[in-house]
Amino acid sequence: MSTAYKFTEEVNKGFDRAAAHVDASPELLAQVKRCNSLYYISFPIRRDDGSIEVIDAWRAEHSHHRQPTKGGIRFASAVNDDEVMALAALMTYKCAVVNVPFGGAKGGVKIDPRGYSPAELERITRRFTFELWRKHFIGPGLDVPAPDMGTGPREMAWVADTYASLCGAELNSYACVTGKPVSQGGIAGRNEATGRGVFFGLREACSISEDMKRLGLKSGIDGKRFVVQGLGNVGYHAAKFLIEDGAVLVGVSEIRGGIANPKGIDLEQLMAYRQDQGTVVGFPGASPLPTSLAALELECDILVPAALENQITAENAPRIKAKIIGEGANGPTTDYADQLLQQRGIMIIPDIYLNAGGVTVSYFEWLKNLQHVSFGRIEKRFDESAYLRLLDAVEESTGKEFTTQELRFLAHGADELDLVNSGLEETMAFSYEQLREGKERLGPKVDLRTAAMALAIRKVVITYEELGIFP
Ligand code: GLU
Repeated sequence: MSTAYKFTEEVNKGFDRAAAHVDASPELLAQVKRCNSLYYISFPIRRDDGSIEVIDAWRAEHSHHRQPTKGGIRFASAVNDDEVMALAALMTYKCAVVNVPFGGAKGGVKIDPRGYSPAELERITRRFTFELWRKHFIGPGLDVPAPDMGTGPREMAWVADTYASLCGAELNSYACVTGKPVSQGGIAGRNEATGRGVFFGLREACSISEDMKRLGLKSGIDGKRFVVQGLGNVGYHAAKFLIEDGAVLVGVSEIRGGIANPKGIDLEQLMAYRQDQGTVVGFPGASPLPTSLAALELECDILVPAALENQITAENAPRIKAKIIGEGANGPTTDYADQLLQQRGIMIIPDIYLNAGGVTVSYFEWLKNLQHVSFGRIEKRFDESAYLRLLDAVEESTGKEFTTQELRFLAHGADELDLVNSGLEETMAFSYEQLREGKERLGPKVDLRTAAMALAIRKVVITYEELGIFP
């Protein structure tokens, strides 16, 4: 086993294992696996102190079997070509698993965003967008970025504004990027979508009593003890929704350390403490852990790695005690560790399904931008009047009188957030069903990750076969 970590190799090992279950020619499978385009750019920016710094950045478009391609832009000091290509490949498979009609892409800018002022970050983001535009690596029908590690709605607003100013009066220009602030063409519910999707996915998995029985667990989220690695957008929201459904947070790991409390950790109090102290370590009532990675080895039912790739490795996999691993991050488990954990009967809910909530709601945002009207705007009031008329008829025929509160609840017409959350819930539930069916078809030896990957590959292969290969 080589010690140098190459993320693309890790992804491709999983691909090869799954491809063995897909009926397609080796040549076509090689095309599906390969990254279609990789754009590297370095550009100078002026720092606030007047000095000039050269920035390295990449955008990988893994698969053009469908366009636009889709995937976030990461700001992190560890970004490199291997990482963006691996993450772009995961985006292709992820979109296929949840039936989002996009190819996969990913971008990365090699900076630690904490070392730059907002004005510097704006210059970097706008320049990067300009460079993408120059080479046709961005556009509503070409390639549509989104937030990823180190970026959020603010950066996406800069991307949209830069692109729109370059494209003049192009009607759909704001569909060039998703994850924008709601005031800038974003969609309600996008910010928390990945974490909410992680929760929906885990809830689906935990609702199947025979699967839970095999793990020695009762079904449902209620009462399950979980550990989260990373309290960023994904980790925080996943934890929040799990707790709201009755799960108990017993451990947290962050860059600067980890904490544990088998009796439960109050998430909101912990967030306030971290905001104040810059770390979770020292949080009252919880015991500090020797290293931040130690949290992964805590006794729990569900472990949610929601930080970086390459966290669960051959080194720590044998000590992991969780019965279920829910991959909120992209590629948190190496291929070798994955095999060790599967042998130990640990259930891994793979990233290409579990963290697909972000891109699912990005798809809704893109649709909203193309239709130029928010979801629910046209029918909400009409639906409410129809429901009220029905309730009136019920009152008349039964003699029952609804309270104002009941009427408000029963006659509520769906607004954008209702529709987004329900579309996300349906996507995660339906995709899990498809995934489980796929796994059953492949036989008892095949794990969920392999089944998800095989399902994704099959969908991409079918698209190629139906399209024909360009001469
Ligand atoms: N960066 C997110 C991911 O890894 C979201 C991508 C998107 O919305 O396009 O899935």
